[in-house]
Amino acid sequence: MEEGRKGVEIDSKTKELIESWQQQAKQLKKKHPKWNAAKIQKEMKDKIIKQAEAAIPTNSAKEYIEGVNAHLKEVEDSRKKAIDEIMRYMGKTSPEAVATVLYELDCGCIRACAVSKQGAPMGEMIMVSGRAVEKGYDCSACREDGGAKPERCIDKSIIWPGDASELPSEEFRLAIGKEVFGDDYSMGDI
Ligand SMILES: [Zn+2]
Repeated sequence: MEEGRKGVEIDSKTKELIESWQQQAKQLKKKHPKWNAAKIQKEMKDKIIKQAEAAIPTNSAKEYIEGVNAHLKEVEDSRKKAIDEIMRYMGKTSPEAVATVLYELDCGCIRACAVSKQGAPMGEMIMVSGRAVEKGYDCSACREDGGAKPERCIDKSIIWPGDASELPSEEFRLAIGKEVFGDDYSMGDI
């Protein structure tokens, strides 16, 4: 294999495409013998390279996509783990709470607070890193501002403890949401 072409895999579909382009180029040359054949060839070659680059799956592209997907899964898994930990903590420290409010920050950390059945905050606001805290991760953004800057909050939500069968009625969830987040909170948010 030529240097610089390592990792390029051409599938049968792409091979067919390239062959058809080659045929097209040959026919153009036959049809227009007085045309600048070299120019036609070059134009075809450029077209082939451009389209092939966009279409051919290379190992590096595959690896890149796999890497991105693995990273996204890691982020989502640690977010789920952090939320589970928050809910376990709230269940212990505020067993009479009806829900927990989450403020997810742009650094991956989550601020959380238990909510009473009147929709009032209960207990203390806790900070949980959505990242690998067990690896000794320490968030520098939160260390600097305490995680309290509203502009760093990317998502606000209410988490109800237990599974789906234990969910309070929609009316109740809407009323709590309005208490916590204001009148803008609507059925679509619950
Ligand atoms: Zn943070």
